Amino acid sequence: MKIGIDLDGVVYDIIGPFDKFIKEKGITPVETEYNRGLEKEVIRNYFQEMNKQNPFLWIPTFKYAVEGVNKLAEDNSIFIITHRDWCENGRVDTLKRLEKDNVRFDYLSFTKKKGEKAAHFGLDYFIEDSIVNARYIKQMSKADVFLIDRPYNQADKESRIFRVKDMREVVSSIGSIGNYK
Ligand SMILES: [Mg+2]
Repeated sequence: MKIGIDLDGVVYDIIGPFDKFIKEKGITPVETEYNRGLEKEVIRNYFQEMNKQNPFLWIPTFKYAVEGVNKLAEDNSIFIITHRDWCENGRVDTLKRLEKDNVRFDYLSFTKKKGEKAAHFGLDYFIEDSIVNARYIKQMSKADVFLIDRPYNQADKESRIFRVKDMREVVSSIGSIGNYK
């Protein structure tokens, strides 16, 4: 099967370090909001500022995330699709980091248009943390979405979006689907 994987909020924890960064500036992040309770322009400026520290080289991975991706890569094609090209060093640092962490993948794409990419590649599944992206991906493509449960993506149950605790649950779900195919 073809599986799309988002990086931030799925494999790498950017939110934890970002919250710490803005807390040091006296801002209290709203944990139930993807934008941390900040205006679009404001959050963008803080991200740009934090980006000077090349976060993609050092932000932590989520537990079992890399192992999970590599496990899925044994029997599936992995398409990493990330919007990290919003910043100058996003591409280079991501490549360096994926290599350092020994993440297995078949294709890497930098884009905000994840729905179009999922349709273009004919992805079967997509692993995301943003509810907005999840809805967009399912609307634009045939991919069903595994949404990693986070405080900022809470929503009522909806078709083709499967809420999972972590990457371990994604791996076991996809594994059991494979058994019935
Ligand atoms: Mg994300």
